[in-house]
Amino acid sequence: MPLSFEVRDTDLLGRIGTLTVGGKKVETPCLLPVIHPVRQSITTAELKKMGFQALMTNSYIIYRRRKEEALQKKIHSLLGFDGVFMTDSGGYQVLEYGSVEISYDESARFQSSIGSDLAVTLDRPTGYTTSEARAKETMMYSLRNAEATMKEFGESITSWVGPIQGGLFDPLLKKSAVGLVAAGFKMLALGSPVQVMDSYRFAELVGMILAARRSIPYSMPLHLFGAGHPLTMALSVALGCDTFDSASYVLFAKNDRYMTENGILRLGEMTYLPCSCVACVSTTPKELGEMPRDERTRALALHNLHVLRAEMLACREAITEGRLWDLVQVRCSSHPRLTEAFSVMAGEAELLSVGTRHFRDKGLMVRSAHDLGRPEVLRSAARLDASFRRGSGTALLLVGGDQIPIGEVKGPAAALGRRNPDVFRLHPVLGVYPAELDYVYPFTQTVAALHPQPGGTEAAKKRLRRLGYKKVEVWEVGKGGRAQRAESRSRRSR
Ligand SMILES: [Zn+2]
Repeated sequence: MPLSFEVRDTDLLGRIGTLTVGGKKVETPCLLPVIHPVRQSITTAELKKMGFQALMTNSYIIYRRRKEEALQKKIHSLLGFDGVFMTDSGGYQVLEYGSVEISYDESARFQSSIGSDLAVTLDRPTGYTTSEARAKETMMYSLRNAEATMKEFGESITSWVGPIQGGLFDPLLKKSAVGLVAAGFKMLALGSPVQVMDSYRFAELVGMILAARRSIPYSMPLHLFGAGHPLTMALSVALGCDTFDSASYVLFAKNDRYMTENGILRLGEMTYLPCSCVACVSTTPKELGEMPRDERTRALALHNLHVLRAEMLACREAITEGRLWDLVQVRCSSHPRLTEAFSVMAGEAELLSVGTRHFRDKGLMVRSAHDLGRPEVLRSAARLDASFRRGSGTALLLVGGDQIPIGEVKGPAAALGRRNPDVFRLHPVLGVYPAELDYVYPFTQTVAALHPQPGGTEAAKKRLRRLGYKKVEVWEVGKGGRAQRAESRSRRSR
């Protein structure tokens, strides 16, 4: 069955898209809650009602526990969900239990026979290992199975998802991704970040996603396995992950863990429930704690799903508004390991600029030194060199008053009429730029918490001289927009 992915909007490497599979549509970025085919406390009807358009389940557990029933009914009626079903091959069970008693072709035939919309070929997750030999062995095993599955079952009604393995080894991840693309996969899934995330190695997670993303076409959807931590969703979306699956909502619930957009809390240590979802609105941590275990797990799982769903929608909204960077920055400020991961991301402005719009309605916020690496900031600096035409021998450099548009600056207009210099402004973050760009994004709309770098004016003068100006006059823009020559003012004050 053909799989298609249409991108409607982008920001950084994140995108809002429509994934069409098996004739059904899923809006991305999208979280696929993992459901257990035998014991599932939140029903598929409830998940559908919450707006989840796609679910993930494990085909190996179905194969072991409900095989005949599944072959007869097919997965959608077996589990009562008419949206997109993605099935995992059982590779994850290898991480948990060490082995899986099924061959790649048996797994593929079964997943296809039960009518899975998206199915992962049998893999062996690399997991978190420092052994390159082990990582290579799991990657090659997964790649060979994927290639063989595509050859034998590529034409079936199921769309195949190729699992990228290789753990923390960039060359292995690259070889895996490139091999899967060559084998004809239209969607890939990055494997085994769970253990990397469980150990809070978020910077390494960024490296893994970037290695995968760099090795596959921009237009290809990328799934991230087991990524259900509310704090890392925006980060993963910004790096180009389109779909995620996770059982975290229930796994955390079983351990009395309560998700918030700022991190995971222990129910036993909470005094309030800072949430208005149906599971929280009429109860307290104490009452929840006194509930029978199953009931409490169910309530916490519902709440956790609510948080994950809200985060998924927050990511989509941020892409639409062009402020995904800001969302990632806020989430990453919750933990030092995440701040570290944000720094790694911030160092990749060139790659991130692929999906960053040139113009947008809202202002650019510059809060920290990291923000100087925003694609918009670097692009604005490059624009002066790319588009500059000198019209005079004199440059008039206006410093200060960067929130006052050029049309409201009083003073230099007379100078402009008299001697016709080229007028420039100095932005504390974006540097020197022609004043006529003042009404062009992001020059007037950039709000900075940073102070101008010492020597900023001198650096700007040097830059203007390099552009061919024999004379550079500096004017200071004061309150109310009145500009005065900096030299004459300093003479007066002497
Ligand atoms: Zn809640």
